[in-house]
Amino acid sequence: MRGFNLKESLTERRYSELYRSRKVLSSAQEPEVCIDGRQVLAFCSNDYLGLANHPEIIAATKQAVNQFGVGGGASHLISGHSQPHHQLEEELAEFTGRSRALLFANGYMANLGVITALLSKTDAVFQDRLNHASLLDAGLLSGARFYRYLHRDCDSLEKKLSRSSARRKLIVTDGVFSMDGDIAPLPKLAAIASKNDAWLMVDDAHGFGVLGEAGRGSAEHFQLSQQELPVLMGTLGKACGTYGAFVAGSEELIETLIQFARPYIYTTSLPPAIAEATRTSLRLIKQEDWRRNHLQNLVAYFRQCCNQAGIKLMNSTTPIQPLMVGNNRSVLAISQGLYQQGILVSAIRPPTVPEGTSRLRITLSARHTREQVDRLVSALEKTIIHHMDINERESVA
Ligand SMILES: *Cc1c(COP(=O)(O)O)cnc(C)c1O
Repeated sequence: MRGFNLKESLTERRYSELYRSRKVLSSAQEPEVCIDGRQVLAFCSNDYLGLANHPEIIAATKQAVNQFGVGGGASHLISGHSQPHHQLEEELAEFTGRSRALLFANGYMANLGVITALLSKTDAVFQDRLNHASLLDAGLLSGARFYRYLHRDCDSLEKKLSRSSARRKLIVTDGVFSMDGDIAPLPKLAAIASKNDAWLMVDDAHGFGVLGEAGRGSAEHFQLSQQELPVLMGTLGKACGTYGAFVAGSEELIETLIQFARPYIYTTSLPPAIAEATRTSLRLIKQEDWRRNHLQNLVAYFRQCCNQAGIKLMNSTTPIQPLMVGNNRSVLAISQGLYQQGILVSAIRPPTVPEGTSRLRITLSARHTREQVDRLVSALEKTIIHHMDINERESVA
């Protein structure tokens, strides 16, 4: 009997340079954060609009805590569905141009909830191979026949789809891919869905608040109606700066989720004050488009500076601007090199990304300034050149 032998798997993880450890922040989520008593300039949060520490959102939260207390107290179907939750759902439906919206505890649970409520053994799910882990897990949990198509490849999808005789067919994709920053070809996917009697579901965790004229996300960016894109999921912990997630769609879809989505039914509702915070956040997203404009300008500026410095970024127009490195050791060394210069950028390794595609995941926020982007670029320049030298020396030796 070898027992659980946890030590062996931990050692193996360390040996493969895949070991994860956490840094403790002692400040709010801002471009400058305090880690281990040290100020560092961070380019790795998903707080794209810089709302996580916004004074009006903080004030709304405090006021709501005074009125509604802290805990949700029960699940939504028992006695935990409060007025702030209900109002937020109505505002999310209005904002996304959908008939209704339903709040979930977080994005992971929303994805588990929708996919398991819609699909079972007689059905099939078709997922982009770079979809977020929560979508893949949800597909497996649903028991549906699972197909993964090549990244953003409509031919690959159509081949698999046209051969399927499943009862229900659901195409599932990230709107903006979380580790790549590129955007899914949603109009084509919607056309393929319609042609093959399938439904399209988009996880807009990284598009919501960021894409589209008014920040309504991928659906607005491509002008996709509820009929073309019947299952729209978004998260509130990223550009919204708060916490939670939602699914928006038809009356029947939302009622189906309330009746059948287990991760909706069997969990405590979000703290009502967080829903109030999100209502304020939504209002700021709608009313103040300068954040999106500044962010888009910063993305263009960063890409231009990198180009001039000979730093090759991946092909992305969103605030997710990854730099492909390849092997685990180099990406860790570069991340550590940046950290020594006071800059925090996370090294993303398998199984979060496919083997051999480890990368720096650089993200920009509307709170960053051009001067801070300059600091990042010059630190990248120094660090990358240094480590490229080491790599070359190693490969010669
Ligand atoms: C972050 C993320 C989720 C999970 O959302 P949480 O609210 O953080 O649980 C789901 N899908 C994608 C694409 C994400 O990036």
